Amino acid sequence: MRHCVASLACMADSIRTFGDPVLKTKAQPVADVDGKARRLVDKMFGALYGTDNGLALAAPQIGVQKQVVVWDFGEDPKTIFNPEIVESDGEWVYEEGCLSIPGLYVEIVRPKTVLVRGVDADGNPGEWEADEIEARMFQHELDHLNGVLMFDRMTAEQRREALAEYERLQAAAEPAPRRRLRLR
Ligand code: ZN
Repeated sequence: MRHCVASLACMADSIRTFGDPVLKTKAQPVADVDGKARRLVDKMFGALYGTDNGLALAAPQIGVQKQVVVWDFGEDPKTIFNPEIVESDGEWVYEEGCLSIPGLYVEIVRPKTVLVRGVDADGNPGEWEADEIEARMFQHELDHLNGVLMFDRMTAEQRREALAEYERLQAAAEPAPRRRLRLR
């Protein structure tokens, strides 16, 4: 998956981007950590490792409305099912990016620490205490499970500027228009 070039398997797990309605809907809880759930996790890691710089991914980002988040900060791959933030504290500014809004980074203020409850990769309930970047990851990915995007966390002015910047990035990423043949 890491080096796939537009194979069918890759395309099936391609990351949905801003404008795709699946990113605006709520994900459903996972009832059992069974084979199906594990296959979903594998697909999510496939999609995550197919990106240049992705740290984490929520299932809706590959079009699956399930409450699953995977992350890998370079130590080891981790998974949480049905996560919820039960406590948060402090304030922290961080330049946040999103695989579904490629290229855009915006400074957003959010709580600095969170306490998250959920179910781990083996199906056991657990608690995660997270600070700074990891806490930010949980907050960002849990937003995805609720159909909330970075744009929804910005001030009105930030949102206006960010949308304009994203449009510029999208336009720049498109292939140059084919030159018209000049006939005389
Ligand atoms: Zn995101």
